[in-house]
Amino acid sequence: MIDHIGNGLALEVLRIIGVRELDKDSTVSVALHVRSQKMGWKDIVKVENMELSPRKVNAIALIAPTASISIIRDFKVREKRSVDLPDRIVGVVRCPNPNCITNRGEPVESELEVARRRPVVLRCVYCERQVDEFLSHLL
Ligand SMILES: [Zn+2]
Repeated sequence: MIDHIGNGLALEVLRIIGVRELDKDSTVSVALHVRSQKMGWKDIVKVENMELSPRKVNAIALIAPTASISIIRDFKVREKRSVDLPDRIVGVVRCPNPNCITNRGEPVESELEVARRRPVVLRCVYCERQVDEFLSHLL
């Protein structure tokens, strides 16, 4: 379950999770515009039988930095943590510079470092281009 998603961002989180890749027997529940003491309003996404890869967790951290992820098994919360943005993000966001070595068909994976955290700004480690809009650049 992914809780504390910023209001209006649940559909982006679903896009990152990739609903089509999920187990055919999984139920996906989405709650939009839920009242929250901490945040005012929030969104919640709940998916059965889901394993989130580190790449997807990083993408969620970029789009919805306030989110928390809980693993629920047998109706009990087994693990709960906030998403955490690492200092470097590899293979998640495409560099917007078309001339960057990561965009020229070379076997070089995109790698961006976090230049600023609030709001998040990333910088390509190869060409130093900055990225502050991630939705359209997710790989
Ligand atoms: Zn670049």
